[in-house]
Amino acid sequence: MIYADNAATTKLDIDAFEAMKPFLLCEYGNASQPYLFSRSAKKALSSSRAIIAKCIGADTEEIYFTSGGTESDNWAIKGTACIGGDKCMVATSQIEHHAVLNTCAAVEKMGVTVEYLPVDNHGILQPETLRDHMKQNIKLVSVMLANNEIGTVQPIKELCSIAHENGALFHTDAVQALGHIPVNVDFLGIDMLSASAHKFNGPKGIGFLYVRKGTQLIPLSDGGAQENGMRAGTENVAAIIAMAVALKKNCERMQSATQKVLQVEDAFLSTIRENNLDFLHNGSNNRLPGNVSISFKGADGETLLHRLDLMGICISTGSACDSKNTQVSHVINAIGVSPEYANGTIRVSFGFENTKEEAITIANAIARVLGFKG
Ligand code: PLP
Repeated sequence: MIYADNAATTKLDIDAFEAMKPFLLCEYGNASQPYLFSRSAKKALSSSRAIIAKCIGADTEEIYFTSGGTESDNWAIKGTACIGGDKCMVATSQIEHHAVLNTCAAVEKMGVTVEYLPVDNHGILQPETLRDHMKQNIKLVSVMLANNEIGTVQPIKELCSIAHENGALFHTDAVQALGHIPVNVDFLGIDMLSASAHKFNGPKGIGFLYVRKGTQLIPLSDGGAQENGMRAGTENVAAIIAMAVALKKNCERMQSATQKVLQVEDAFLSTIRENNLDFLHNGSNNRLPGNVSISFKGADGETLLHRLDLMGICISTGSACDSKNTQVSHVINAIGVSPEYANGTIRVSFGFENTKEEAITIANAIARVLGFKG
């Protein structure tokens, strides 16, 4: 099997796995209890929070553990957009993940107006576009740090400044980016950031929301005093610990991993070119390493995915969360890929464990399926 769908999810890091084990089998005390037995869980929880905070340049108290990216996005948007006052609008981009788009649709039903801003052909939300659309009653601007389908990295620092100049908060969905490109919340100036551990070799079902001190946010759930009373519910201690280990490790090896992944990506694209395939390489020059979205002329991405699957190769047509929807994705439509190419879109996403040989095998397999090679 060749796994090249690392944008959908990643393999659990072995050290992260080992770090979880004692907290599942031995140190299983509830971190909220005062007795000695719970002390190690409580300590591990606070050191994990500190490790994660350091990785993104935040303060420890600004990290709130959640069940993952979807929950963090829901919380950031619903928890700010629905606070009354005269600001009652949200601005976002047309190429957000459905965790953001469907949350925006939900707040629209609650009376909030949402503006979905267009991106250019590379998937970039140009700062001028945001500036032109900024209105006094926009409460929140939510723009993803990097797109999960085409890898485009957004000019977050500039977009955030424009939001702030106009009195709006700024949230970024960094689910696809964190652990793969450097992220510093102070450098970017953002107020909230969503993250999910399974995208950076942590376990599934765990993530966090960074919330800058002083940001007004409605609690996600009411109940116990966990997460400073903002997200009630017993913490998933083992998963939180593993998330911290995985994020720290990914941040430490980021440079070498990026170098390797770019070489693998190069080998893939060169082989595709050598096969004389007619294709478009989607996204911008400033892209997530290893995230390759290509549209083959006259091909059917869905068929290609299944044919590769039969050869033991895992890739995707777009977002994993949208895989039941077989139409051309909203991202590919938003960047204006013409219909003759759009239907033939696939995403190959390499991780640091992929090899050049695997990349060449995938490219040649694609060429065989598309009938350009015997
Ligand atoms: N946001 C982006 C950009 C994603 O790629 C994903 C997952 O694919 C999510 C949000 C949802 O994250 P989770 O799977 O942790 O709920």
